[in-house]
Amino acid sequence: MKFFIINSGSSSIKYQVIEMTTESVLATGMVERIGDETGRLQNTFFPGTPSERVSTVEQAIPDHDSGMHLVISLLTDQEQGVIGDTSEISAIGHRVVHGGEDFRESTRVTPLVIEAIKRNIPLAPLHNPANLDGIRVAMELFPAVPQVAVFDTAFHQTMPPHAFMYAIPYALYEQDRVRRYGFHGTSHRFVAGECARHLGKPLSSCNLITIHLGNGCSMTAIANGVSIDTSLGMTPLEGLVMGTRSGDVDPALHLFLKQNKGMDLEAIDAMLNKESGLKGLCGMNDMRDIHRAVEAGDQRAALALAVQTYRNRKYIGAFMAVLGRVDGIVFTAGIGENDAIVRAESLQGLEFLGVRLDPEENNLRSKQARCISSEDSRVRVFVIPTNEELAIAREVAKVVGS
Ligand code: AMP
Repeated sequence: MKFFIINSGSSSIKYQVIEMTTESVLATGMVERIGDETGRLQNTFFPGTPSERVSTVEQAIPDHDSGMHLVISLLTDQEQGVIGDTSEISAIGHRVVHGGEDFRESTRVTPLVIEAIKRNIPLAPLHNPANLDGIRVAMELFPAVPQVAVFDTAFHQTMPPHAFMYAIPYALYEQDRVRRYGFHGTSHRFVAGECARHLGKPLSSCNLITIHLGNGCSMTAIANGVSIDTSLGMTPLEGLVMGTRSGDVDPALHLFLKQNKGMDLEAIDAMLNKESGLKGLCGMNDMRDIHRAVEAGDQRAALALAVQTYRNRKYIGAFMAVLGRVDGIVFTAGIGENDAIVRAESLQGLEFLGVRLDPEENNLRSKQARCISSEDSRVRVFVIPTNEELAIAREVAKVVGS
């Protein structure tokens, strides 16, 4: 049983072909710079195995249709491909960023589902149209194959109103669905499930804090297996300090910038999304560069690290308060999985709440899921690699199976 997982962006298509009986990746790759003269497809067959084969195609890729055709001709290549023809794909999973209030679960793509994704375009004007492009092309190329939409927002639809409402005029919620939605839901759901396995309990009886620290960052409070609060809001800008995104700021900052710097709202939005966060504070948004700069005595890099880890700590404290009992804290994504310093500083001073790291376990370099808290820590702390494609594939299996 082979699933094709597609993450279609505005100028890129990321994909994987996964053999579901063994959950092994047969092919993974990315089409980049769609619409550019210098398009590129990089594909890897059997990644991470002795048979790994990487290939790159460079040519103009005018649109998503031609990008997907290129991928399929590579995957079905007589000599080196991993599928004989498109009929070998039993289901297709699409990552969709914004499901608004319409989707609490992953779902089979139908005309009604497509309409609902379109309806939510105002909430994700860049992402949802690109996701729809991927769905449209895949439906044309694989007309007989079930297609499943897996939403970044769905896992957080269990948040209660007191967590998802902004304290602004209620009419904005009633008329325009202005509220907090949260994102990275597929990742939070996946690592929560893995954490429950490590704790040896059903997820439905676990209280967890899952911390996704990558280029985008978010934290989720999970009570009895469901999301009850999360740090990202109506858009993926609220909350933690990210690579280039500010996270929380005073909303009155917009007026200040308009009045004092002559900036319009579009410029302010671009600044908060693309020029802020770690990059805004120290000019770098890759945590590895920041650590090197800190070691070389760069004060701004040290400040960026301190602002990010302090914000993490503040949110962990807040989420411990709303959960009451916490069984596990999970770190995941690029920074969360690899950065012992960020993990240690984010948890610093939380011993009074029962959180104690084992420094040796924390400093261990490993790609494996593992517990990094000390034996006497009341709250267990884990590093669990996220795998969004596999998480999407498991969602697809659930939907197709039912
Ligand atoms: P992601 O969005 O999950 O792919 O994470 C990307 C980010 O993870 C990069 O921008 C880096 O800041 C960070 N990262 C990746 N590898 C490491 C590492 N070995 N140590 C610290 N940070 C890392």
